[in-house]
Amino acid sequence: MSVKTCVEAVQARIRAAALAAGRDPAEITLVAATKVQTSDTIREAIQAGITCCGENRVQEFNTHWKDGAYEGAEVHFIGHLQKNKVKYLVGKVSLIESIDSEGLMTAVSDRAVKTGVVQDILIEVNIGGEASKSGAAPAEVEALLRLAADLPGVRARGLMAIPPVAEQPGENQRYFREMYQLFVDMRGKMADNGECMDILSMGMSGDFEDAIAQGATQVRVGTALFGQRPPMRANG
Ligand SMILES: *Cc1c(COP(=O)(O)O)cnc(C)c1O
Repeated sequence: MSVKTCVEAVQARIRAAALAAGRDPAEITLVAATKVQTSDTIREAIQAGITCCGENRVQEFNTHWKDGAYEGAEVHFIGHLQKNKVKYLVGKVSLIESIDSEGLMTAVSDRAVKTGVVQDILIEVNIGGEASKSGAAPAEVEALLRLAADLPGVRARGLMAIPPVAEQPGENQRYFREMYQLFVDMRGKMADNGECMDILSMGMSGDFEDAIAQGATQVRVGTALFGQRPPMRANG
């Protein structure tokens, strides 16, 4: 199947899932997870209607950026991020979704101040409590959001999660539900501070409909758009 056919099919599924949940499909952003794809494939996806690309690796981002492959779309960074690579992203990507520590957040803020921008970020939450995964513990999220409100170079727009790999269909519903509750709770607390949180990023190829049913505003989809990827390192 062509990328265009896949993009249209995923968009139709998002629309159907939103309507089934009594939600406006326009509330949900499809982020194309473009790891291991070529610049040409990214251009093809944007041509087919993709408005937002999600990158996992700074090196791949740099290559596609130099190629001008993202023209017509914005880019989110969705992978594990090291402090020394923050400088390649700040001011270029519209959202860094994977902030999970005070140190990383402070590095992003410092760089943003130096560059003269305010960088939008999400807090990545390790909702399944998996030792192998990055992400802040749910109990750490409030302190991170309060730090974001104090730092001049970042604006926290919401939360992101990658739940455990599901063995049965529907298994992640409970994690999506927990994430939504955390999101609503934190959004309320931050609103008291005058901060506006409007993004909940969760759901991938295998479960984005469940995530939409539970309140996701953004789904990150790779395989359903581009086909199976070759095996790779889990994080990076
Ligand atoms: C690869 C990736 C996705 C998309 O995964 P698929 O199962 O291929 O849809 C979503 N989020 C992150 C952070 C990813 O690394």
